[in-house]
Amino acid sequence: MKKLIRAIILAALCAAVLAASGCTPAATEEPAVPESSTAVVSDTNAPSAALPEGIFLDDEELYHHPDADCSVVHSLFDEGKTRRCVVCGIEGKTPEEMPTGFITREETVIDIGKVIFIIDPNVYVPGDVEQKAAKIVAAIEEASGMSFSDAKYNENIVTVYVGKEDHSDNENIEPESETGSAWAEGGKSRVLKICSGDLLLGNDEALVHELSHTLNYSHSSNMFCQVASEGFSTYNTYKTLKLLEKTDPETAYLLAPSSNSYINMDIYKPEAVYTQPFEYWMENGFPYEYSGNGSYSLGFRFMAYLDEVYGDYTRWIPVSDEIPGDDFDFPIKAQLIAFRQAYGDDVFDGFYPWLKENESRFAVDYSKKTEYDLTGADAVTIYPFFMSFDCPTDLVGGLTTVRYNDLYVDLEETKKYLSQYKGRSLDKLELNIKWLEGEKSVELFDVYGESMGVVTGKTSIPISDVSFVRLCGDGVLDSFSVSGYEGY
Ligand SMILES: [Zn+2]
Ligand SMILES: [Zn+2]
Ligand SMILES: [Zn+2]
Repeated sequence: MKKLIRAIILAALCAAVLAASGCTPAATEEPAVPESSTAVVSDTNAPSAALPEGIFLDDEELYHHPDADCSVVHSLFDEGKTRRCVVCGIEGKTPEEMPTGFITREETVIDIGKVIFIIDPNVYVPGDVEQKAAKIVAAIEEASGMSFSDAKYNENIVTVYVGKEDHSDNENIEPESETGSAWAEGGKSRVLKICSGDLLLGNDEALVHELSHTLNYSHSSNMFCQVASEGFSTYNTYKTLKLLEKTDPETAYLLAPSSNSYINMDIYKPEAVYTQPFEYWMENGFPYEYSGNGSYSLGFRFMAYLDEVYGDYTRWIPVSDEIPGDDFDFPIKAQLIAFRQAYGDDVFDGFYPWLKENESRFAVDYSKKTEYDLTGADAVTIYPFFMSFDCPTDLVGGLTTVRYNDLYVDLEETKKYLSQYKGRSLDKLELNIKWLEGEKSVELFDVYGESMGVVTGKTSIPISDVSFVRLCGDGVLDSFSVSGYEGY
């Protein structure tokens, strides 16, 4: 799909370039952006059928316009962010890639080797989802030190169902909500499920969480205790997000900030933890009145403890597989034995003293925003987040500010999602930016990649003609959002 948007940009540029360079502009009827370019296509080769006549693309992504009396083959994109036309010398900057998403018409299978995605009909699939998902799977393996393929229970291919949830019989949820249940099946099936809104649209990390469960089950078909299993998945998700933020911020952006993990794992009454031994919470669960995520939150801390004190939060998983839970009145006892076998008899004794010492790190200050560092990213795409009661479009939502350095933000996909997927009018679409630091400048680009100029100091910018923007220089954003559509 990457080639399609470039094909459009190149076709238009060729016309503009030829006119500027004195090439016979006879054939400069602007190649219209083909309507069919927005059609549902899952085959990456298919879009070439929609290209304007006279343009061809090859693997080097060169183009040539045979109607003009110029025989130069232009290569505007060979250096990624910089383009320079060899005929007229025009120079510009565009992001290396702005992949185009599509809407599935029927059940659609995407096979990335280690993992297969089976996607419901009428689901928005972001561009380049194969490469993106592969990077995320690799990061989950690297963060955990465990492999999906080199695993005890690897007979079944990891299969991710991406569900379009039907909310029509639930009056408490907006029917167009893209969120809902996500789960991973226990045992050896290696089947998991996420929702359409979780499919790498930059709004949540459910894919990593459920894949972490499946990774766990790939190495142990025994699972005795929610504190341990959810603790592992939430902590491994945090580690994966942290790793990606450091090594591949553009891929990290497809999920959610790692700082969200701490917010989700907040325990309102930290002192309540110590009213019972940890083994008691493992057996009975940690109450939701102390934390919105109950056992997850306490398990998250326990995994952090194992990670930092023992340098390993996964060693107990294969050990669990060796202990027959059926031999015990309470299967939880098998889990306790597994942790003791893996880390030593005093593993539980050390947890509360460590937690007391480190408690402040887990405390969430709701009066303060956390900075999300996107300085390592060149370009990101923002998608609306249609939840149960809300449908915002934020660069990063919640208690988060964003640090950037010359960041391109694709709005073409935002518009496509809103108009073609959600039936919204784009006429009044606006970009809202609140800066905390920086030169407060944003450069606007049209769908052909042509600059429409730099806007400085404005907080509200109409974007019905804008395809993508560049946040110029260094800066920090308090917020960056799109509004002006029904519901926002
Ligand atoms: Zn030419
Ligand atoms: Zn030129
Ligand atoms: Zn879970």
